[in-house]
Amino acid sequence: MMNDRSWLLKSWDAFGALRSRSEGTWVKRCGRRACEPILVGFVSLVLLTIPIYAQAPVADTIFIGEFLTLDPAHPTAEAVAVSAGRIIATGSQSEVEARATKDTRRIKIDGFALPGLADAHIHVAGVGEQLERLDLRRLTKAEILAKVAEAVRSSPSGSWITGGGWDEGFWHPSEFPTASELDTVSGDHPIALSRIDGHSTWVNSKVLALAKITGDTPDPEGGLIRRNAAHEPTGMLVDHAQRLIRGVVPAPTPADEERRIQIALRQFSRWGLTSVHDAGVGLEAISIYKDLLKRGELPVRVYAMVTGEEAINRYLASGPEPDLGSGMLAVRSFKLFLDGALGSRGAELTDAYSDAPPEHGLELMKDADLERIVRAAHQRGFQVNTHAIGDRAVRRALDAFEKGGVTPNERFRIEHASLVTNDDLPRFVHLGIIASIQPVFVGEYSRWAEDRVGSSRIHWVLRTRDLLNAGVSLAAGSDFPASDSGEPIATLHCLVTRQSAAGKPEGGWYSDQAVSVDQALRMMTAGPAYAAFQEKELGTLSVGRYADFTVLSANPYQVASDDLRTIAIRMTVVAGRVTFNAGGH
Ligand SMILES: [Zn+2]
Repeated sequence: MMNDRSWLLKSWDAFGALRSRSEGTWVKRCGRRACEPILVGFVSLVLLTIPIYAQAPVADTIFIGEFLTLDPAHPTAEAVAVSAGRIIATGSQSEVEARATKDTRRIKIDGFALPGLADAHIHVAGVGEQLERLDLRRLTKAEILAKVAEAVRSSPSGSWITGGGWDEGFWHPSEFPTASELDTVSGDHPIALSRIDGHSTWVNSKVLALAKITGDTPDPEGGLIRRNAAHEPTGMLVDHAQRLIRGVVPAPTPADEERRIQIALRQFSRWGLTSVHDAGVGLEAISIYKDLLKRGELPVRVYAMVTGEEAINRYLASGPEPDLGSGMLAVRSFKLFLDGALGSRGAELTDAYSDAPPEHGLELMKDADLERIVRAAHQRGFQVNTHAIGDRAVRRALDAFEKGGVTPNERFRIEHASLVTNDDLPRFVHLGIIASIQPVFVGEYSRWAEDRVGSSRIHWVLRTRDLLNAGVSLAAGSDFPASDSGEPIATLHCLVTRQSAAGKPEGGWYSDQAVSVDQALRMMTAGPAYAAFQEKELGTLSVGRYADFTVLSANPYQVASDDLRTIAIRMTVVAGRVTFNAGGH
């Protein structure tokens, strides 16, 4: 039986729905002065038939400045009115002021506001951890050893020292490092330093001893212990071989994880991000997100991809959670790993690596297991997002989706899709598979990808323009901290120039794969929104949508492409709430 209160709420919802429909109509057809009489007539009609409730909602906040809405019907606006986290009007300042009351707050925007920038593939707790540990990105080997030596001097005896972000592509010669090099500065500390891609770890002899990894230890399935001529481990553990040290590295406590997530979320607001897709979370992280949401401390929308057998099984039993807290948190997708990364030669290729034959990379999941999860997810209404970098892994993912009867409505995704053959390109379109790409990899790939795959396959690599021209749905992300940068401005710059965040190489890497500023911005706004089933709520600054926007210091359509990376973030707004303000007030 329905009690009075629930009836009241239901009626109120019905009025709300009617209101937003009528506003939608107004915005679509009018927005010009000539339409006002029609609007007035329509509103009076509604007022006559529905007393009091049908008044246009009033703005709690009006933002004033230059808006680039990415909405083709109204590409620019001088002001945006917000009520309870959603946009209720856009247009000229005087049009929008009609929604104000004496209590309405006004916030002036210093710059150019775009729909909130999203990252379709990032590792949230990983970013927090990265911000807490030794940052080895872009350093030479000598600089890394000096940094480790410094940490050894300042850390309690015997404690673990961890770091990440090293990339032998910056070294001369460009060779994988060894435990003995690290031993020279280690003292009695176990040291584990992960490569930029997170797919391999450089450890010292103390770690090898603690984990009991010797010349007799076999390579685990899906992993590789690099060895010297005497078959002894060199100190490089690739992909699943990294699991051999898991038992001896002190595990992060739930408090560590919560702290790291919070550090990362604060950083995202400073970078101008309003939404992130967390590419692989367990139950612990999901419960942290739920707690933060409950406490009102989630400053960025999180689209969580569930990973790990236990968590996936739990969600298959309980079902998806597509909208927790007005679009702030969604748990409706699974993240699977089919292969490793190209830099560590873990990406699964059909033909051998050009610089290390007969290596083909690693198969981290068997077809039968993949097909089983795809079927189960499909039945239970979950999206499947598969990590697939090598051409063979990409093909296996497409095959499994096709076999599982996946339709475009389900929006299954391939994360990375770094090597796509000409034959597989149209299959993305036919099956409606989203390519979730990380353009910022261009910087590091430009240094070694051609060595790995050779000249005949290089045109399959990071082929953004080809994917776009073929009609593939694209969502852009950064994969940070497994890449050089998590800043969306770096992604924008890289999409347009095919250069790294540092502006390398000159002229861009295979610059025929570059896209326009407009195409890039859509991959960073509407693209991730579609990939998260949020395209009606996010992606443009339009009436009825969430008031999420990012304010840039310059208009990206008007600056020279080389200067895109110099654009600063002035303000970030999520659901009408300012989550970052460079002006600090
Ligand atoms: Zn990733």
